[in-house]
Amino acid sequence: MPPRRVIGIDAGGTKLLGGVVDEQMVVHHRVRRTWRGADRRETIDIFTDAVEEVRAASPDVEAVGFGIPALVDQEAGVSRWSNHLPLDGVPFREVMSERLGLPVVVDNDGNMSMLAEARSGAAAGTRHAVMVLLGTGIAGGLWLNGSLYRGASGVGAELGHVVLQLHGPECPGDCPGIGCFEALVSGHAIGREGMRAAAAAPDSALGRRLESGKEIDGGIVTELAHGGDPGACAVLAEVGERLGFGLTGIVNTFNPEVIVVGGGAARGGDLLLEPARAVVAAHALPPAREGLRIVAAHYGDEAGMIGAAAMAFDSLDEGSLP
Ligand SMILES: [Zn+2]
Repeated sequence: MPPRRVIGIDAGGTKLLGGVVDEQMVVHHRVRRTWRGADRRETIDIFTDAVEEVRAASPDVEAVGFGIPALVDQEAGVSRWSNHLPLDGVPFREVMSERLGLPVVVDNDGNMSMLAEARSGAAAGTRHAVMVLLGTGIAGGLWLNGSLYRGASGVGAELGHVVLQLHGPECPGDCPGIGCFEALVSGHAIGREGMRAAAAAPDSALGRRLESGKEIDGGIVTELAHGGDPGACAVLAEVGERLGFGLTGIVNTFNPEVIVVGGGAARGGDLLLEPARAVVAAHALPPAREGLRIVAAHYGDEAGMIGAAAMAFDSLDEGSLP
């Protein structure tokens, strides 16, 4: 019997990554899309196109799992609210399964990354783990007592909207919060601090880039930091330190065995994680920080896609798909 396959789709604030995934979590075909400024209908069309593209390469897929950047009622399959995409109040599972003619499951993107890392990634074998996904914003996932924790109505684990700074910067997107973790530590924040560093040091690589009129975003700052530019390294050190203070609260609240840091904005690797580890080692409550590991995601940018596929397989096995 050929191995079963499903499609996993991971959607972030600006882009989508999808793939055909088998039961060993091997990815066979990939698809990418971006959607800056797309309205609701266009966003749903992009999801549909992406699925159809990989499905054409593997017509035997049995279901589709979606991880989306939204507060999702996972049981009802409804996207309740989204800070980054026009998906408020969308009966996502119903809409997509009708369009695709396939069984569909949907959950929050942070939860899906957590599931992948807990099953077979950087948090494998643990019963208490936390996922922090640094992208356009920050998604979170909680693996507590060996399963995903979603909260009373399924919309919990939004670690990106824990307040880190009193009267801090406004949270990007539609979040009514100010000084949120996401406003201070995401890819967006790295870009903003990069702009500030560039203006302050016109002779640095960052400064010359600003001078020549080119855009400075989180990706460029990270790239220059890996190249050794002191200004860019200082930005990652500053943001890494903030990350550490955010993680300190998480360590004290949940006492996890491991915190997995993933997402596109985590490409700084140890340039971000080392300052974060130092802050946690100095400021988290001693018994909670003992033995704690803070590590990069095993699946990198693909954690959300792999987790969405894992959830689709789970639902097939439980027979819970409509
Ligand atoms: Zn917020």
